[in-house]
Amino acid sequence: MHTHNYQQTPNARRAPSRGPANSWQARAIAAYQRNQPDEATLRHELTAALHALTGQAVAGDAIIVDLTGRAATARLDGALFRWADGGLHLIRPCAHCGHGAFSSPPLRDAEELGFVLSAWRPLHEDCRPFEADDIH
Ligand SMILES: [Zn+2]
Repeated sequence: MHTHNYQQTPNARRAPSRGPANSWQARAIAAYQRNQPDEATLRHELTAALHALTGQAVAGDAIIVDLTGRAATARLDGALFRWADGGLHLIRPCAHCGHGAFSSPPLRDAEELGFVLSAWRPLHEDCRPFEADDIH
């Protein structure tokens, strides 16, 4: 069903550096790398999830992949989305001070997306309205 295309820039990933083949380090690193999603996978998962949720296709060059964090991020019409932990999240700044980056719960359908776009107001601890903790 994924008929949309995204641009794949020529892959400049470095080959993993190799140590002694039988060392415990090499085995541990290999175990870690086997479980790492690669860049193309993260891009595809973000693109597919965004398309399923919004019907929009994201340009390949709008996607930022964070291999270490196993995440991919893209901005769509001003909204920042992040694919991480097998789910799509909206990233918003603090509703009070406009700084920071808060990740929404995973978005599974248009209703949940509508909620975080309209009613979700993430706040820093220090940015909570005074009356919320005005307990004397
Ligand atoms: Zn704040």
